[in-house]
Amino acid sequence: MRLREIPTDGIPYDRLCVEKIPAAPEYIPRDPELVPASNRSVVINPNRICMPIGAMWAVLGIHRAIPFVQGAQGCTTYARYTFCRIFKEPATIATASFHEDAAVFGGRKNVVEGIRNLVVRYWPEVIGVVTTCSSEIMGDDMVSFLKEARARLSREIGKEKVEEISVVLINTPSFAGSHVEGYDRASRAFLESLATTRDVPSERVNIIPGMLYPGDIREIKHLLREMGVGGTILFDISDTLDAPLNPPQEIPYYPPGGTPVSGIRQMANARATFALQPHAGGSGARYLERKFGIPAFIGPVPIGVAATDAFLQNLSRITGREIPASLRDERGRLVDAMADTLHHTMMKRVAIFGDPDVVIGMTRFACELGMTPVAVSSGTPSRTFEGEIESIFREYRELFLAEPRVFNGGDLFEFEEYLKTLPRLDLILGHSKGVDISRELEVPLVRVGFPIYDRFGYQKKPVVGYHGAELLLYEIVNELLDYRYPDDRTQQL
Ligand code: SF4
Repeated sequence: MRLREIPTDGIPYDRLCVEKIPAAPEYIPRDPELVPASNRSVVINPNRICMPIGAMWAVLGIHRAIPFVQGAQGCTTYARYTFCRIFKEPATIATASFHEDAAVFGGRKNVVEGIRNLVVRYWPEVIGVVTTCSSEIMGDDMVSFLKEARARLSREIGKEKVEEISVVLINTPSFAGSHVEGYDRASRAFLESLATTRDVPSERVNIIPGMLYPGDIREIKHLLREMGVGGTILFDISDTLDAPLNPPQEIPYYPPGGTPVSGIRQMANARATFALQPHAGGSGARYLERKFGIPAFIGPVPIGVAATDAFLQNLSRITGREIPASLRDERGRLVDAMADTLHHTMMKRVAIFGDPDVVIGMTRFACELGMTPVAVSSGTPSRTFEGEIESIFREYRELFLAEPRVFNGGDLFEFEEYLKTLPRLDLILGHSKGVDISRELEVPLVRVGFPIYDRFGYQKKPVVGYHGAELLLYEIVNELLDYRYPDDRTQQL
């Protein structure tokens, strides 16, 4: 029986909700001409952030690595502030500190002197040089600047020591993309620079997780351990941006963990590459496939039952390892939790926004929970996003009580204005930039995706894998109970 046909004594499901409707009664619709982001020359409440931040995130996931930002101090301070808010940890990021002279004469002097100062003070093993809007617009010839920087360093500290330091250039003109593309470009830049030789093929697999939090990366490591598969995670922020506070700490301080350079070199010898997020890391996996014939499994991000099944089945197929009973039990516990809570999640109308791969993963998981996604928005425009969402909609079409709306690109203002026109909305899934929307609509927000800066501990809570999905499900259900369940009935749960 289709859900629309479930008898409800003549009252359509849409009218059964006893609580308030989200749009405030005094809401006056905006000029419809101004609502679509494509009609405006300004972005209001952007659903993405700056491209270099994705690249810096990647560099911070490498052992003894420091990002060097070829741009103004603001481009670096913004990133440090963002990381600090998300991870509640300091992030060491160097800056070329552009001023007026760099804007006129270019950033050669800044990068040559800046790299020299960075090396003699911090002795990093890896420097990820991240360009910015200004250096890209000026047309800084970074390849020759970096050659000059190395030559100068060789004269000062000796050629041997300079050769121990890997310098990787990541071009990130922020006007041409978002943080998602910055991470993607970093994955390719690091592999092209360091994973250059396939000599002794190994049984290990490469995992490029995309911009997932430390808790997610630990969950992926757990899945690999249970499968008995050795893996290299590029870029492993789990112990760099969630480091233990263990005295004594040396100066310069480098947190433990992070992907070692030797591990990145060995990625050319791997059996397969899993890029969990096609838009953030897919380029790195495709490079290894093209150059060395290493099979690339690109997406989906393992959120929910089907996507985690797909990840483990591919892992099993390529490595010949059986999926163990322990993981089958984890799956069973998730399915049990879904059955226990189905009467709370079923037919709830949900809006989802964030980065494209996470939104796709969350949309599928919402459908697995019997929810109805009524609007989905990717802040980063993508050629494949609409097709992916539509294929999920086709698969679960009997769940939909209304035609879902897909926003590919655009900002959160446009998204919010659309949500205000809906007759009912039960839940929003998205990152911290949706807080004001949630408050205005009086609809609960379950925080998921990047960035989450207004809560503690979210960077440690996984959403991937069976266990992550179970935790996320409980959070969804508890939010629904808080907002949508009359108190007298909550007492009877
Ligand atoms: S958008 Fe451009 S100018 Fe602004 S912080 Fe990012 S790189 Fe710097």
